[in-house]
Amino acid sequence: MDITADLVITFIERVATAIKAERDYLTQLDAAIGDADHGMNLDRGFSVVLNKLPTVAGKDIGTILKSVGTTLVSTVGGASGPLYGTAFLRAGMAIGDRQTIRAINLIGASEAALEGIQSRGKSTRGEKTMIDTIAPAIEALKAAHFAGADLLSALEQALVAGEAGMQATIAMQATKGRASYLGERSIGHQDPGATSAYLIVKALVETVRQ
Ligand code: ADP
Ligand code: MG
Repeated sequence: MDITADLVITFIERVATAIKAERDYLTQLDAAIGDADHGMNLDRGFSVVLNKLPTVAGKDIGTILKSVGTTLVSTVGGASGPLYGTAFLRAGMAIGDRQTIRAINLIGASEAALEGIQSRGKSTRGEKTMIDTIAPAIEALKAAHFAGADLLSALEQALVAGEAGMQATIAMQATKGRASYLGERSIGHQDPGATSAYLIVKALVETVRQ
């Protein structure tokens, strides 16, 4: 199955809807180990993204994703805005002016997004961040794809791995971002960014499934 530019627009709309629906939950998670703004930050950013989507309708996938990234960088306060913004920008740069992509391009774009987050955040797996959802999800996506799975079932496996990664942040001690100020007291709480990253992967799976 190919992913078209229209489907990418639908994906972004689904992300915005999911973030709005889970806004209070994300903020509640951030209240425990941060400053209680993660849901608000992302909802504000994706609301602006939604308003700007009509301006990229009919454009190529790279342009759509880069526009999302630029908007997130400039409208989301806090650590997560520049990190997610960089992720969408890098994914857009990796895809370029294609109107449709296949699983292999999605893998390349996801890896570029993850590299962008890691270089901007100077962070790696196991530090109780969004990376703990994204990295295992990409690993599972690749493994399933190269084992011959179709796009939807590869993405479903990625979601399962991402969910496990998100849940694994509960037991981790944060060493990056605001939660790291708590030291050992950050243990026992699910990371808000790992949770929003799970919602984004879930939105992608639902978009491809529809
Ligand atoms: P802030 O912490 O500035 O208030 P948010 O609350 O919007 O920003 O986002 C917090 C989330 O950002 C964390 O839960 C974590 O997943 C993610 N995060 C913070 N710092 C980093 C980093 N250096 N690398 C990757 N992710 C990070
Ligand atoms: Mg916060």
